[in-house]
Amino acid sequence: EQGKRKGLIKTPTAALKEYFGFSKFLDGQEEVISEIVSGKDGLVVMPTGGGKSLCFQIPALCFPGVTLVISPLIALMKDQVDALVTRGVSATLINSTLSWPEQKERLDGMRRGEFKLVYVAPERFRAESFLNALRDVEVSLFAIDEAHCLSQWGHDFRPDYLRLGKSLEKIGRPQCVALTATATPVVRNDIKNVLKLRQPFERVSGFSRPNLSLAITAVDKAAHKDERIRAIISAHKTGIIYCATRKKVDLVSETLASWGVKCISYHGGMSDSERVKAQEIFISKKVGIAVATNAFGMGIDRGDVRFVIHYEIPGSVEAYYQEAGRAGRDGEAAVCEMLFNYADTRTQEFFIDGANPSAAVIRQIYQYLLNEADDNHEVFRTLEDIAENADVKNTMAVGSGLTILARGGFIERFDVQGRRMRGTRLLKPDLLTRNLVLDESAIEEKDARDREKLKAMVEMCYSRSCRQQWILTYFGEEDTSPCGNCDMCRDRSAGDYRAPTAEERLMVRKALSGVARMSRRGANGWEGKFGKGRIIQMLAGSKSQEILTAKLDQLSTYGLLADKTTGYLNSLFRSLADEGLVITITGDYPLMTLSAKGERVMSGKEEFQLKWPGETAKPVGLDE
Ligand code: ADP
Ligand code: ZN
Repeated sequence: EQGKRKGLIKTPTAALKEYFGFSKFLDGQEEVISEIVSGKDGLVVMPTGGGKSLCFQIPALCFPGVTLVISPLIALMKDQVDALVTRGVSATLINSTLSWPEQKERLDGMRRGEFKLVYVAPERFRAESFLNALRDVEVSLFAIDEAHCLSQWGHDFRPDYLRLGKSLEKIGRPQCVALTATATPVVRNDIKNVLKLRQPFERVSGFSRPNLSLAITAVDKAAHKDERIRAIISAHKTGIIYCATRKKVDLVSETLASWGVKCISYHGGMSDSERVKAQEIFISKKVGIAVATNAFGMGIDRGDVRFVIHYEIPGSVEAYYQEAGRAGRDGEAAVCEMLFNYADTRTQEFFIDGANPSAAVIRQIYQYLLNEADDNHEVFRTLEDIAENADVKNTMAVGSGLTILARGGFIERFDVQGRRMRGTRLLKPDLLTRNLVLDESAIEEKDARDREKLKAMVEMCYSRSCRQQWILTYFGEEDTSPCGNCDMCRDRSAGDYRAPTAEERLMVRKALSGVARMSRRGANGWEGKFGKGRIIQMLAGSKSQEILTAKLDQLSTYGLLADKTTGYLNSLFRSLADEGLVITITGDYPLMTLSAKGERVMSGKEEFQLKWPGETAKPVGLDE
C-alpha cells in the first residue's frame, strides 16, 4: 500500500497553471509535491509565507479522491477555502460553526466525490460519528497543517492534535503529510512519532532570505550600541529595533527622541489601546521606526521594513530569524544587525528561569489561588498581586505557572495574544478540590531545551561562518552555500581579512603588550584588571582623570599608539576580539585580557590574520 502511486488525474504543473495561474514552483515546492504525488507520507517544513499551502493543494487536485486538510484556526480555514472556491476548486470546510445536519450534508457530498479539498478542524475527530462517516469516503491524502500544534511543549500546543494519530488508524491509514513552519528537531520528532508516519520523506526548505544582509556586531557598551543604531537609521529610514525588556524599549526610545528621531514604542506593559494605536501608526507608515519587545510582530504586515536591529541577543535562533525576517518582506534589500554583548545572555537566562517555574512554585501559586477563590470559585488578581502574595519572585514565573495549570484544565488565563494576563479565573469548580498533578519531568525538559536554544544562539554569535548558511543548517536545510551578503561573507570578499604588513604586525604587538601591562598573570593564565575602554585610553595616551588617578600614564606602554584615533583603536580591538587574540571576561565589569594565542602573537611566536579596520572609524555623532 505504502508509497503506491495513485492514478493521477492531472500533472502538478498543469494544476499549478490551471488553478493558480503560476508558471513556476517556489523554492522547494516541486520536490515536495513530487514526493507527495508518488504516494509517500511526509513532513514538510517551510517558513510562513513560503508556499506551504500549495504543497497539499496541488496534489489534492491531482489525486482522484478527496484531500482532508486539518487546520487549527477556523478563520484561517475559511480564508483558504474561500480563496480556493474563487479559483474554481471544489473545496469546503467542516467545523463547529456548522450544525450536525450541515456537517452530514457535506460528508455526503464528500462521499459522492463532490469535493477535492475538505478543511476540517482537529476537534471534529473527537466524535466517533465523524470518524465513522469518513470510513466510506475515498481519502487520497490527509494533510495536517500547523503540525507543530501536536508537540506538547511547543509554543502552540493543541490537545486535539494528539488524537490525529489514532484517528488516522481508524480511517484506514490514508497517505499523510504534515506541514509546519517550526523546524526544531524535537518538534519534528514529535510529529513523526505521534502521527506514526511511515518511512516519510522529510523536506526543509524555503528558509533562505537572500535579500537580507545579516550581521552580528560584538559590542561592549551601550554607547557602541547607540553608535550602530545611529549609523543604521541614518542609512535606512524604516525599521524595527527589538529590545529584550520593556525598560530597554523605553531607554532606546528616549535615545532616539534625543536625536530628534520619531519612533513608536511597543511592549507588553502597555494597555491594549496604546498598543493597537502604536501598531496602527507604524503599519499606516506615519512613523518609520518601531522600538519594541518581541510582543511586536504578530500581525505586522509592512513590506518596506529596511532594517531590523536586535539591541540584545534573543533567546533562540528561531526567535532571532523570525524577527529579523520581518525585514525586506517586499523582496528588496534589507539589513539585520544584532548587537551582541555576552552579558545580555543573562537577561535571557532570567526569562528562561521565569518561563519554567519549578513544581514547588507552581504549587505555591495553585495553593494561593485556591485560598483566594470566592463562592463562584473565581479569583481575579493581577500577575503582580499573585507574585507578591504567593511569595513568588518573578511575575513571569507566575504567568508560566498559570499556563501550566491551565493545561491541566484548572485555570484559564485572561490574556491578549497569549502574552499578558490581567486577571485569573479558576474554572471547573469540581476540579478545585482535586490534587494538582504536575509533570515535573516535562517542566525540566522544557527548561533544558530552552537553555540549549539559547546556547545555539550564542554559538551563532561567535561563529565566523556565513550567517545565512549557519541558520539554514540549524533549521535542517541541506546543500547550502555561503550567501555572499552577510557580515562574514563580506569580510572575506572585501579582502580586508588578511595577514598583517610589518607595520601592522608591530602595531598589534604594541596593542597586545598594552593589554598585558594592564592584566595580571594568574594561576590559570591571564586575568583582566581593566575594561577595553581604559586600555585604549592608556594606549592612546589619554590624560583623562581615570588614567591619571590609576597612574596608568606611568606604564611603559602609555601612549604607544597615540598616532591612532580612539575610533580606530576601538575597531582594532573588536577585530582582535573576533580573532580570539584578546578575551573579555564579564563579571561585574567586563575585563579584557590576553588569550593564550594573543600572548604568542605578542611575543612574535605565532603568525595571525585579522580583519583590518578602515582608517575613518571614529564613532558617529558621539563625543568621547
Ligand atoms: P504558507 O502557507 O507557507 O504560509 P502560502 O501557501 O500562503 O504560504 O503562500 C504564500 C504566498 O506565496 C501566497 O500569496 C501564494 O499565492 C504565493 N505562492 C505560492 N506558491 C507560489 C508559486 N509557485 N508561484 C508564485 N507564488 C506562489
Ligand atoms: Zn553569508
